[in-house]
Amino acid sequence: MEKRINGHTGLLALFGTPVGHSGSPAMYNFCFQHDGLDLAYMAFDVNIPDMEQTLSTVKLWNLRGGNFTMPCKNIASELMDELSPASKIIGACNVFVNKDGKLYGDVTDGAGFIKNLSVNGVEVKGKKMVVLGAGGAATAIQVQAALDGAAEVAIFNRDDEFFERAEGTKAKLEKECPDVKVTVTKLEEADKLAEAVKACDILVNATSVGMKPQDGISLIDTALLREDLVVADTVYNPEKTQLILDAEAAGCAKAIGGKGMLLWQGALNYQLFTGKEMPVEEYQKFQAEQAK
Ligand code: NAD
Repeated sequence: MEKRINGHTGLLALFGTPVGHSGSPAMYNFCFQHDGLDLAYMAFDVNIPDMEQTLSTVKLWNLRGGNFTMPCKNIASELMDELSPASKIIGACNVFVNKDGKLYGDVTDGAGFIKNLSVNGVEVKGKKMVVLGAGGAATAIQVQAALDGAAEVAIFNRDDEFFERAEGTKAKLEKECPDVKVTVTKLEEADKLAEAVKACDILVNATSVGMKPQDGISLIDTALLREDLVVADTVYNPEKTQLILDAEAAGCAKAIGGKGMLLWQGALNYQLFTGKEMPVEEYQKFQAEQAK
C-alpha cells in the first residue's frame, strides 16, 4: 500500500504538452521521498487555451507549485501574480510557487546554465560571452548572464524567425542592464563570428544544432577553438555534442555539456519549492541505477 500519499500531501505539477516523456515527476518524487517531505509531483497535459482555467484550479486546489513546459511558458508568465526580474525581461516562466494563494513565477533555465558553469569552476561576472541562438534556452542564458554581470553578450543567430527575438532581447537588456554590452549579428556573417569568438572568454551553443536530427554537426570552425576558451553546450542529447567533442580535442579550458544545466535548473526549482538543497548526488546515483 502507498504510505507516502495521505490526506495532507501537498501537490506540485508540471503543465504543458507533451509531458508524458518528462523526467521531472520521477526526479522530484525521488527527492521528496529522500528528504521525508509530504509532497507529490504529477504531470498534466494542457495547452495554451487551458492555462487560465488551469491556474484557477491550481489556486482552488492549493497546489504548492510546479513547472511549465512548452508551449505554456509564455502564457504562464502573463497569468502569474508576481514575476522574478528574469521572468519579467524574458516574458516566460518555467517554475512557480504558491505563496498564500498568490502565484510567483520564475525562470530557472538561465540560472541553471550559469550554476552549471559555476560548478565547473567558471564564473560569468566580467566575462565576454558569445551565445549562439535566440530561442527559449538562448534568451534565458543571455538575460541571466547579463543580470549576473557578464561584461559582454554577443548574440549570433541565423537569419530565421528567431533573429527578431534576439533584437528584442538586446533592446530589453539595454534598458534593464545598461552596463552590459549586447550585440546581435547574423550567424551567416562568418568573419564577425570568428572575430567575436577570438575575443570572448565563454562560447555557448544554445541552438538545437548538435541535437538529433542535427547531431554530428557544429556551428563553430575547429580552428577557432583555443586552450583558454571555455565552451559550453545546452544540448544534452547526445551528452557530448560535436562542439563539445571538438572543444575536448582542441584542449579548450573547459568543455561543458548540457546535462548539468538540466540538473541544476531542477535543483534551483527544488529550492524554490521546498527551501532545501536538492539531494543531487543521491538522485544521480538513483538515476545511474535505473539506467542499468
Ligand atoms: P528553440 O526552438 O526555442 O530555438 C532553437 C534555436 O536554434 C533558434 O535560435 C534557431 O535559430 C536555432 N537553430 C536551429 N537550427 C539551426 C541551424 N541549423 N543552424 C543555426 N541555428 C539553428 O529551442 P530551445 O528551447 O531554445 O532549445 C535549444 C536547444 O537547447 C535544444 O537542443 C534543447 O534541447 C536545449 N535545451 C537544453 C536545456 C537544458 O536544460 N540543458 C534546456 C532547454 C533547452
